[in-house]
Amino acid sequence: MADLIVGLQWGDEGKGKIVDLVAKNYDIVIRSQGGHNAGHTVVLDGKKYALHLLPSGVLNPNAINVIGNGVVVYPKQLIKEINGFDRDIKSKLLISDKAHMILDHHILVDQAREILRGKNAIGTTGRGIGPAYADKIARVGVRMGELRDIDRLMDKLAHYYEMNKGYFEYLGINTPDMNELRKELEFYRDELIGNITDTTKYLWDNIDKNMLLEGAQATLLDIDHGTYPYVTSSNTIASGALTGSGLPPKALEKVIGIAKAYTTRVGNGPFPTEDLGSDGDKIRKQGHEFGTTTGRPRRCGWFDVVAAKYAITLNGCDEVAIMKLDVLDGFDKVKVCIAYEKDGEKIDYFPSDLEGVKPVYVELDGWDGSEGVTDFDKLPENAKKYIEFLEEKIGCHIKYVSTGPDRNSTIIR
Ligand code: GDP
Repeated sequence: MADLIVGLQWGDEGKGKIVDLVAKNYDIVIRSQGGHNAGHTVVLDGKKYALHLLPSGVLNPNAINVIGNGVVVYPKQLIKEINGFDRDIKSKLLISDKAHMILDHHILVDQAREILRGKNAIGTTGRGIGPAYADKIARVGVRMGELRDIDRLMDKLAHYYEMNKGYFEYLGINTPDMNELRKELEFYRDELIGNITDTTKYLWDNIDKNMLLEGAQATLLDIDHGTYPYVTSSNTIASGALTGSGLPPKALEKVIGIAKAYTTRVGNGPFPTEDLGSDGDKIRKQGHEFGTTTGRPRRCGWFDVVAAKYAITLNGCDEVAIMKLDVLDGFDKVKVCIAYEKDGEKIDYFPSDLEGVKPVYVELDGWDGSEGVTDFDKLPENAKKYIEFLEEKIGCHIKYVSTGPDRNSTIIR
């Protein structure tokens, strides 16, 4: 049976910390969507590692790590990540033969298209994720299992480049040198072939083990249910984790939703509770809200109950973790958005189009000194009230409250 950890906002909620906290309880840790646009830092034996593609089970020497069919894999990055560890990672790693591969041209297309979009840029990380998913849906993608027969794969790619010649020219991109490409693909094969397998069957065969599905990006970036088109190219929600792993819906036991005590967003797109004033700056500064993967400053604002309730329902959350409560230390007042106003009307659901939506706030008294607290009763009174207020409004049990980056700075209720 599987548990899922999923971000409830626009990403960077601190999923890494909760995964780190619970990963030791699982035999199998699975990534089911996204690519190396995800990213968190983990500390192992005092050394820091940036994980982009590898599941967080690498922290546990006994866990099997699965890169599921729904992930898009950039083999170059994966090999780099594997080799970055002092210890053996490969013997515990399985890569779906159905997972699609990112090749260098996907990255070039991604970056060229983003430039062409001008002021309508989506704010992608430029890592080829979108174009690789687009090829998958257009049924012209290449899958990891195809590394088993390089001749056939080369024929397929030659046809692909021929078909896309005009488009590549328009974008100002060269098609790759086919000899170089073959060498590259042979390198990927030699490095990874022993890990490529039918992971769907593996998960079915091990259904009685404890599995953790590790979500990447977050609910409001879901390709269908997020703030389209300012979204990622995969289904980030619970149902996407099933599609992306091949696990049947009833294998899902518990869904843990992760949200910050406030809200952030990277890149363009609607963000009703964004604070463009000094409060937003203060959150950014206190929360070190700059992207792990790109270094971009994150847009910051207040907790949005409407969005959180939407995300909790979409994912069927059983419990919620509220992260980075300590970042709100030192505010006189904190705001929480409890409804939206659209065209002069008050609404309490997350509409398909956020255009013209304004937040309706309530103000609560602030607090100081929540940092590092590990016992709910020892939190400052107003911080306790804040968590209880959120819990009542979102209608889901807040099981974890995080009060600092350290694994120990966590309240479990
Ligand atoms: P993820 O992609 O969802 O894992 O999130 P990120 O890794 O981008 O963001 C999490 C960052 O916040 C990391 O640098 C964590 O060390 C840090 N962090 C996590 N929880 C807390 C917390 O409760 N308080 C503070 N101050 N930092 C935290």
